[in-house]
Amino acid sequence: MGLLLKIFIPLLGLVLAFYFYSAPENFSEEMLRGKRVIVTGASSGIGEQMAYHLARMEAHLLLTARTEAKLQKVVERCLKLGAASARYVSGSMEDTTLPEVVVKEAENTWGGLDMLILNHIGHSYFNYFNGDVGHIRELLETNFLSYVAMTVSALPMLKESEGSIVVVSSLAGKTSGPFTAPYSATKFALDGFFSSLRHEFIIEKVNVSITLCILGYIDTESAVRAVSHAIRVSPAPKEECALEIIKSGALRRRELHYPPGTVGSLLLLQAIAPEFLDSLIRKGYKVENFRR
Ligand code: NDP
Repeated sequence: MGLLLKIFIPLLGLVLAFYFYSAPENFSEEMLRGKRVIVTGASSGIGEQMAYHLARMEAHLLLTARTEAKLQKVVERCLKLGAASARYVSGSMEDTTLPEVVVKEAENTWGGLDMLILNHIGHSYFNYFNGDVGHIRELLETNFLSYVAMTVSALPMLKESEGSIVVVSSLAGKTSGPFTAPYSATKFALDGFFSSLRHEFIIEKVNVSITLCILGYIDTESAVRAVSHAIRVSPAPKEECALEIIKSGALRRRELHYPPGTVGSLLLLQAIAPEFLDSLIRKGYKVENFRR
């Protein structure tokens, strides 16, 4: 088992990474120049880094999160980096009216929209499931229903521009591990909803792409604070992760797996040996550090 972990998984990862990244696709930063982009959860972490990349690419930006002071700073930096324009709307996605307010702001300011990047998440705990159903309801509102509501509001503009929807999900939304039951439930819901919607767009010839981003462990402050004491893997860099998300959206890819080797190989293993994968995942946790 130890040898498998050390040799087989990275090897499989390399093969898969080569397969996915040798695909004939050309990304150019010009693709984003002048595009009108909403990024949610842009006050910190991966969302903040996406805002900076998009600013360098000279996109128009509308950012959202709860903390106004942080958003102001991110907007200022985006303008310095070269954004065509940058503004924000602050508020909590637990508020069921906010998704429409944010999309209306884009409509009033730009009269259209090219890319909707759904990235925010509400706070959850990293521990044994504690039986709190109310918490799951609230988390579904923030992590799932607000994504649906923003999509519904933005769809007329995205149809008009033949634009893109980018949904930031997680390995925990494709294959589950312990201690993340509420979070994992909301991320699986995203896959179910947006993958079904993608079929319907294809059937009805709606030219709006949907990219689902399956991320492994990334070195954002909040993720490192929450899990570094309890898992054995090292995180991947948020700056590169943010760029890969933007590239995947611009190239209208179906899914992004980042970091590609780790995520790709774990998903392949899930398809061929799910119980073996489950046992590998459990071995990745320092369960002695969790208390009920
Ligand atoms: P962060 O915690 O760094 O950022 C979360 C963002 O969401 C912040 O801008 C935060 O700002 C905002 N937010 C929090 N609560 C709310 C709320 N109630 N309403 C609106 N906005 C809110 O997260 P990451 O950058 O680490 O994660 C970004 C995405 O990547 C998420 O979808 C996450 O699931 C996914 N991901 C991350 C991984 C990782 O290891 N980092 C691994 C797998 C997936 P504010 O507090 O100001 O509201």
